[in-house]
Amino acid sequence: MVTEDRSPVATPTKPGDSPGLRVRIDQDSCTGDGLCVQYAPSVFEFDIDGLAYVKNSDGELQTTPGTHVPVPLPLLTEIRDAAEQCPGTCIYVEHPDGTLEVGGPQE
Ligand code: SF4
Repeated sequence: MVTEDRSPVATPTKPGDSPGLRVRIDQDSCTGDGLCVQYAPSVFEFDIDGLAYVKNSDGELQTTPGTHVPVPLPLLTEIRDAAEQCPGTCIYVEHPDGTLEVGGPQE
């Protein structure tokens, strides 16, 4: 299903990013358990509210809820695993048109 994309974008894709794939977190469903931070600490990090957010390729935490960043190609497996196992089912790995690659609520 294609949905309209209104999520903010942190940075454009850079060399070394997975082609077109991007990742975001729905903070409304984050449990704060930290599994994603264990899998990919260079992409996921807690803010002072105890919820996980994504970081851009410069390591800057994106504290606007729902911001997505490009998936770094070397971390694609770790980010996929985090999205599949996220207890809050709130990590979304998406294509540029907003279609879901992996993550989100399981059917
Ligand atoms: S794994 Fe999911 S629920 Fe857990 S801290 Fe990360 S985003 Fe939040």
